[in-house]
Amino acid sequence: MNDRVCLSPFCGARTTQRVQRCPACGRRMFGRDEIAARGRHLVLLGLILAGVVGSVVWFWSSGLLPAVAGEPAPSFRGTAFEARALLFALIALILTGVCFTASGALMMAGRSSRTPTRAAIILFAAALVAILICLASAYLLRDGLN
Ligand SMILES: [Zn+2]
Repeated sequence: MNDRVCLSPFCGARTTQRVQRCPACGRRMFGRDEIAARGRHLVLLGLILAGVVGSVVWFWSSGLLPAVAGEPAPSFRGTAFEARALLFALIALILTGVCFTASGALMMAGRSSRTPTRAAIILFAAALVAILICLASAYLLRDGLN
C-alpha cells in the first residue's frame, strides 16, 4: 500500500495511482511519509498554540474573569460584553490548537484528519469573528455609548 491522499479538509480523496494532483479537486496529493511529517508539524503547532493561548488565559484570568462576570476589574477596562467576547475568542483559539494536535496525530497514524481539521478551521474563524466584534465594540461604539 502506497496510496496518496488529498489533504484538502473539504475533499480527502485517496488514490493508489502515483499522481501529483488530486483527481477530485486538483490540489496536491501526499504520500504516507509526507503526511506523517506534516502531522508531526501540526501536532507541534497545535500544542504551541494551545499552550501559548492557555498561558495567556491562565495568567490573565484574575483580571479577565471578574470582567466577564460584570464586576470591576482593574486590569480590564472594556465592558463585560467585550470581556466575554475576548474570553470566547481565547477559548476558541485553545480548541483550535487541540484540534490541530488531534488532526496531526491522525495524520501520523495514517488516518483521515478531515473532521478535526474542519473543526479547527471553524473554531479559528469563530475566534477571529469574536476578536473583530470585541475590537469593533471597543473602538467604534465606545464614543457613541459613553
Ligand atoms: Zn482533493
